[in-house]
Amino acid sequence: MSKKVLIIYTGGTIGMEPSDKGYVPSTGLQPLLEQQLSHSTRSTLPEYDLIELSCLIDSSNLQPRHWTEIGQLLLARWDDYQGFVVLHGTDTMAYTASMLSFMFLGCDKPIIVTGSQIPLSQARSDGVENLASALAFACYNNLHEVCLYFGGRLLRGNRASKVASDGFTAFDSPNYPWLGDVGIHLRLNSALLLPQTPFDFRVPEFESGKVLVLPAYPGMPGAALRPLVQAAGVEALVLQSYGVGNPPDADTEFMALLQDMADGNQLVLNISHCHTGHMAQGAYASGSALNDLGVISGNDMTLEAAIAKVNMALHLPLNREQQRNWLATPVCGERSE
Ligand code: ASP
Repeated sequence: MSKKVLIIYTGGTIGMEPSDKGYVPSTGLQPLLEQQLSHSTRSTLPEYDLIELSCLIDSSNLQPRHWTEIGQLLLARWDDYQGFVVLHGTDTMAYTASMLSFMFLGCDKPIIVTGSQIPLSQARSDGVENLASALAFACYNNLHEVCLYFGGRLLRGNRASKVASDGFTAFDSPNYPWLGDVGIHLRLNSALLLPQTPFDFRVPEFESGKVLVLPAYPGMPGAALRPLVQAAGVEALVLQSYGVGNPPDADTEFMALLQDMADGNQLVLNISHCHTGHMAQGAYASGSALNDLGVISGNDMTLEAAIAKVNMALHLPLNREQQRNWLATPVCGERSE
């Protein structure tokens, strides 16, 4: 195995160039990286190779098929590198970091997802520091999980969310401590890291249109949601309910919809609007209604992790009941019991 790190460049602000319509993805990142990682910095960093996605994207255009492509690039080169850095746009970085954690269960090397708020080609870019620290963390051999590094914070990938649209500390993991941080030194909180588990890599052909997300809100049109849920191809719903997992159970149209989903054997995963704390689905009668319908409690999962995990659950060679159990169980630190 080479001592090198593989950088997979998917697009995103870090490699973008200005155009008359605003920033757009741009190929040919290698010379810019070499130029930006100045000679003295460069000598302290690992050697790397860089490959690009077949079509670079603004990550607001991320689709499930891109997860398949990124996963295949990693899988094909897994044995050749000591660690991996995925350069990604910030808008959907936490979704991809989450999905990578479910694709590379039991990984024995770090996969560090990062990007920047200002392109490397522009003044005051935060991309140099983010990339340099991500490369350094990608060489830690006691780190065998998917992380998101950004603005001085090393976060568990499937616990991270974008929390600031224009700040350099754009990501946080409000419901789980940071795995590490960067100041003068790189610090890793070893006690928080995932233990090494057996390899269970899986890179399915993901498709769009299978998973629906529905945030509960006052005045939601229960009846009008029916065509969405019953659209061809929809197999699962991520419900974002209130507080400890309470839906508007007095909305009979909405509850009838959930009943029909249960009857139709569609998956329903319930998570909370809240950014911190745990769910207690059934602490209130409104939440008990969900238990009666077999809705799975997602406990303290982020929306990003919930969407990724449901997409993965649908591709596991399991029956629906086993898929439900898999969703209800922590598999790579994405949720509490
Ligand atoms: N729209 C950009 C993207 O997600 C934003 C960024 O990278 O910061 O690709």
